[in-house]
Amino acid sequence: MAYQLPALQYPFNALEPSIDARTMEIHHDKHHAAYVANLNNAIKDYPDLEAKTVGDLLSDLASVPEAIRTAVRNNGGGVWNHSFFWRIMAPEAGGRPSGALAAAIDATFGSFEAFQEKFQQAAVTRFGSGWAWLSVKADKSLCICSTPNQDSPIMKGVVECAGEPILCVDVWEHAYYLNYQNRRPDYVKAWWNVVNWPAVEALYAAAMK
Ligand code: MN
Repeated sequence: MAYQLPALQYPFNALEPSIDARTMEIHHDKHHAAYVANLNNAIKDYPDLEAKTVGDLLSDLASVPEAIRTAVRNNGGGVWNHSFFWRIMAPEAGGRPSGALAAAIDATFGSFEAFQEKFQQAAVTRFGSGWAWLSVKADKSLCICSTPNQDSPIMKGVVECAGEPILCVDVWEHAYYLNYQNRRPDYVKAWWNVVNWPAVEALYAAAMK
């Protein structure tokens, strides 16, 4: 098969108590795996596409055959977004960024606390299922946005907030419902404690090159 489910780089219980082990297991082994299976199914009659990365497909959706474009957008988006999401979290993480990213956040949003409030707001007010993002735009400025479904800032020409993501939070109910039920704000608040800032700083440095 063209695309594989990447292994989680930490145990299912590694993000407790912010995110419980059962949620992580279902999220990775069932939801993420289903996006991979559905993407492979969507492209099975288009062998030329297998040479492309998921990111390649999503950043140029106009080049994907129309018959499978929506399936690639939704399921390829699900594949890419979750792979990214697992990377920007880690056990015993949280705190705040340092270095160039910290300076850029202060310069853009006024303070880390003001940034957190704006990001939290984007996550909490996304109606239905989706994501909140911090991205580096083409002009190298930082931008907070949210996207519906499995859309992301890498989908140039599709989303309003195109850019290179450096941080995201999944606000689909499947990401938090077992432990938080309807309390999405509590989930997002707890999620800050597992943000892998060194990984986000590395993504920021790469995006600024
Ligand atoms: Mn999810």
